[in-house]
This record gives sequence, structure tokens and C-alpha cells, in this order.
Amino acid sequence: MIPRYLVNFNTDNIDKVVTDVVVVGSGVAGLSAALEISKQFDVALVTKSELKETATWYAQGGVATAVSPEDSPKLHLKDTLEAGAGLCDREAVDVLVNEASDRIGELIRLGAKFDWQGDHIGLSREGGHHLARILYSGDTTGSEIEATLIRTAEAWKSVQVFEHRFSLDVLVENGRCAGVVCLDEPTGRLVVHFAKAVILATGGAGQLFSVTTNPVISTGDGIAMAYRAGAVVTDMEFIQFHPTALDSDSMPRFLITEALRGAGAYLRDCNGERFMVGRHPLAELAPRDVVTREMVRVMHRCNDSPIYLDATHLPKEKLKKRFPNIWAHCRENGITISKDFIPVRPAAHYTMAGVKTDLDGRTNIPGLYATGETACTGVHGANRLASNSLLEGLVFSKRITDTVIAKLSEEGQETNPNLRIACDMDRVQTEIDFKKERRWLQKLMTDYVGVVRSEKGLEYAISQLDSKSGLLKAGFVNPEGFELQNMLTLAGLVARSALERKESRGVHYREDYPEPSDEWLRHIEYRLTEDAVAL
Ligand SMILES: Cc1cc2nc3c(=O)[nH]c(=O)nc-3n(C[C@H](O)[C@H](O)[C@H](O)COP(=O)(O)OP(=O)(O)OC[C@H]3O[C@@H](n4cnc5c(N)ncnc54)[C@H](O)[C@@H]3O)c2cc1C
Repeated sequence: MIPRYLVNFNTDNIDKVVTDVVVVGSGVAGLSAALEISKQFDVALVTKSELKETATWYAQGGVATAVSPEDSPKLHLKDTLEAGAGLCDREAVDVLVNEASDRIGELIRLGAKFDWQGDHIGLSREGGHHLARILYSGDTTGSEIEATLIRTAEAWKSVQVFEHRFSLDVLVENGRCAGVVCLDEPTGRLVVHFAKAVILATGGAGQLFSVTTNPVISTGDGIAMAYRAGAVVTDMEFIQFHPTALDSDSMPRFLITEALRGAGAYLRDCNGERFMVGRHPLAELAPRDVVTREMVRVMHRCNDSPIYLDATHLPKEKLKKRFPNIWAHCRENGITISKDFIPVRPAAHYTMAGVKTDLDGRTNIPGLYATGETACTGVHGANRLASNSLLEGLVFSKRITDTVIAKLSEEGQETNPNLRIACDMDRVQTEIDFKKERRWLQKLMTDYVGVVRSEKGLEYAISQLDSKSGLLKAGFVNPEGFELQNMLTLAGLVARSALERKESRGVHYREDYPEPSDEWLRHIEYRLTEDAVAL
């Protein structure tokens, strides 16, 4: 049984912050939502690290948007649906592709700079896209967007920002979301944020795996919090592995953007052969799930040698200019990409799993919204199309803010600062090595719930995770402990959902059920009820 809250508390006895809205998370999804709402209502933004420490900051490739004369939202929709392998929500994808250019226009007006090629905006191509439609800012598009949003927040001064404040749990009173309870790290004190609307934008959960491109903050806290509060979570089995992370010991792994393959780089096996040719009509630019699985097969055949990304036939000056970050990072690792092959391996990259939302970001709990990588809006289906996620954050955060603003304007009430919500349960005091436990979980997930899955492996993973369920009731006092509890909760859901889906589809590959099955053209959902997990 998963306890409802991570900590014992009583809102009568802890510090209070009262605003109209609280946003949790400062990536593209959280910041863009907070800024928009702050034009009309009081907003607190809570983030567990520094403002910029987000997956958004590390995004390289860019933002997909149909802007070229030969492109259209319809073609963008077609590629998104194709990558999603039958599980995208068509209506949500329609929203994504049709509202894309307006959101990009707003970003540009805030000062974000995308690259130009002569007199037109630069467009690159990535896996699964049939034409060039990715707007980019060198190979550091994410930091350009994040820096623009942070600059705007600093200039407007309309959002109350609380850095190093770890959101622990969502509060629900009389069936409505009432705020969040947090740990303020600098003081070590619990704080309650009361609000009429809570927007969860805590990013993904790549840290569930030992090899990931995701920063250390990506522990899926928002999904776990929402789940404990009774929100429906869905598509938990779908975690995307990016094919080309630099083969090194660093954690997180440094990503080599797909745009490099879009610019013409090849994938080669240990014998120097291009193994994607003939495997898929788009060869190296096939959707990520296809390339990743093929790489795993080839690496196995090559005695676990890495795959090589070959850009040596591309002009040196073009590489340096278009991919300055990758050029510099590889140089630091002794690789000159115009002369040397780049050793790469797949790494956990994107969480399609998430809190189920409607087209306006609403969860099943009134007043609780989810956006960005935390949410499952339905746009990605079983496999996210490259460069659709920054866009998803922008598009759906805007829809949430429109909805929240309309609702708060209509209701016109103040946030109730006097709610009494408390938790007082027996908690086991346990001394554990958090780093060691986290590494254990990551290895288990990588070995048995990674790119290739089987019934036997998944059952083993679940039994191992269950053997740690006592930790969910432990009385931890620091973020490492809370993250571990969230990760254990999510790992269990990912493994159970993967065991449930007896087919292969998109990023979910079962070696014991290697084909897709029409029976499984449906989603698996979980919701925590009083005494059990409802499926
Ligand atoms: C290396 C890399 C490259 C990528 N490249 C691209 C790309 O080119 N194009 C693209 O579209 N996508 C790309 N992605 C994916 C994309 O960056 C993310 O999906 C997107 O940025 C997620 O944004 P977000 O706002 O939902 O979450 P994030 O940007 O991850 O922000 C999450 C925020 O929540 C906060 N948070 C988490 N837990 C808590 C808690 N308990 N309490 C308080 N705060 C909390 C974090 O501190 C952080 O501020 C890439 C991802 C990576 C890792």
C-alpha cells in the first residue's frame, strides 16, 4: 500500500503561502504557464533546484513547427501519428500542430532567437519527420528558450519564485485540489502553498534508468504526487530511449542531437557498415524506437561494441557552425567530429507516461492541471516524434492558462487560507544509503524494464521493487529520500504496465510478444484508490 503523503504535517502548524495559482516546475511548461497567468492572477512558482536546472535547458535539436511553404500542420500531424504507432489522441495532435506557430511567434516576441538561413528561418530535419520542420538555435535551443522565459520572469517580476523548494504532495480537500505541501530546503521547514489551481510541470522520469540524457531533477515527482492524490496516470509503459547519447561514463549522458543525422550523418556498426539502410525507408532518420531497437540488436551482434555516428563526410565548417555545443563537447572527450566517428549508445530520454489530461490540461481532480513532460495529453502515443515536446509544453500550458484564467475570473473567490489538512501516520525510521538505492533501482530498470522486455524479466523487476515497498513508508526528511520514494512508485507502475501490455508497439518492445496486436490499441491507466490500485 502506498501512503497518501510522503511526510507527516498539519497545515495549522506550518508556514503558509497563499496565491491564486501555484505552478510546480520551472521548465518550458511551468515558466510559460506562470508568466501567462501572472498577467491577471497571483502566481507562486515552486522549483526544487535553481530556476534553470531543467530538461528544457539541455534540449538541443529544436521545436517542430510547420512553417515552410511545402509543409503544413496536416503533414506535421501525419508524421506525429505515424511515430505514435496507433496510440496518439488525434484531437490532441490536431491542437498541437495547429497552435504551434502562434506559440513560437509569442516566444520570438519575448526575445527567443532562432537561427536563420539567408532570408528564411532555418529548419532542420530529425527522425520520423518527412521534411525539414525543426526551428533551432544552434544546438542549444532549450537554453535559448529557457533563458528567454527566465529573463521575462525577472523583468516582469509578476511571478513569486521559490527556488530550492521541493514539492512533496498535492493537497485535495472536498474533492478539489487545494495546494501543495513542500519542503523548503534552505530552512528545512515544511511550507504549504494554498491555491485554487495547481499546475504540475515537473518534467519526466529519465532518472529511473542508469543511462539517461535527463538531468538529475528528472525523477518523475509530479507524476508520483498526482498519483498519490488520486489522479489517473496513463501510458506508464512508454519510455523513449534516444538512439544517440555519447558513449561515456558521465551521468547524465551527453546527447548527440538527431539533427546531426538530419544533416546527413550515418550510423555504422562495429564493422563500419551502415546498418539502417534497408531496415526502414527513412534509414538513419527512422523514428527513434525503430533506430534504438536496431542499434541494440547490432550492438549485441558486435559483442556490445558501441554504434558509431559518422559525420566525417560533412563539411567541417558547417559542423562547427551548426553544432557548436556538440563540436566542443566531443573535442573535450578527444573526438573531432569532422575526422572521428562518435561512439554512441541509446539512453532513456523521454517519458510519454504521465498524468492523464484533457485538451485543456485538466486532470480528473478539479483544480489540478498537468503540463509538459509530466502530463500525458495523448500527443505522443507510443513514441514521441522528435522535437514535439518543447512544443507540447508551450501549446498545452497556454491552453491551461486560458482555462484557469476563465475559471478564476468566473468564480471570483479568494483562496481559502484556513484549510486544515493533516497527516499523522506511523513511519519507519530507516537509515539507508540513498545513492546506492537509487543506483540499484536504475540498474534494475535498465536491465529488465529497458529497451527489450519480457514477462520473466518484468516479473522479476516487480518482485524486486515490491521487496523495497517498506521504503515507501519510511520517514525520510531530505529530497534524496523523497525522490527515491517517488521513483520506487513510478518504477512499479512502469514495470506493471509493461507486463500488462502483451504486444510490442512504439517504444514498448516485448521479445515474447514481438508484434503489435489490434487488441492492444488502447491505453492502460492506473489510479490509486483507498485500498488498492485500480486498473
Ligand atoms: C538532452 C535533452 C535534449 C532534448 N532535446 C529536445 C529537443 O531538441 N526538442 C524537444 O522538443 N525536446 C527535447 N528534449 C525533451 C524536452 O527538453 C523536455 O521534454 C521538456 O523540456 C520538458 O519540459 P518541462 O517543462 O515539462 O520539464 P523540465 O524542463 O524538465 O522542468 C521540470 C521542472 O520541475 C522541477 N521539479 C521537478 N520535481 C519537482 C518537485 N518535486 N518540486 C519542485 N520542483 C520540481 C524541476 O526542478 C524543473 O524546474 C530534450 C531533453 C533532453 C534531456
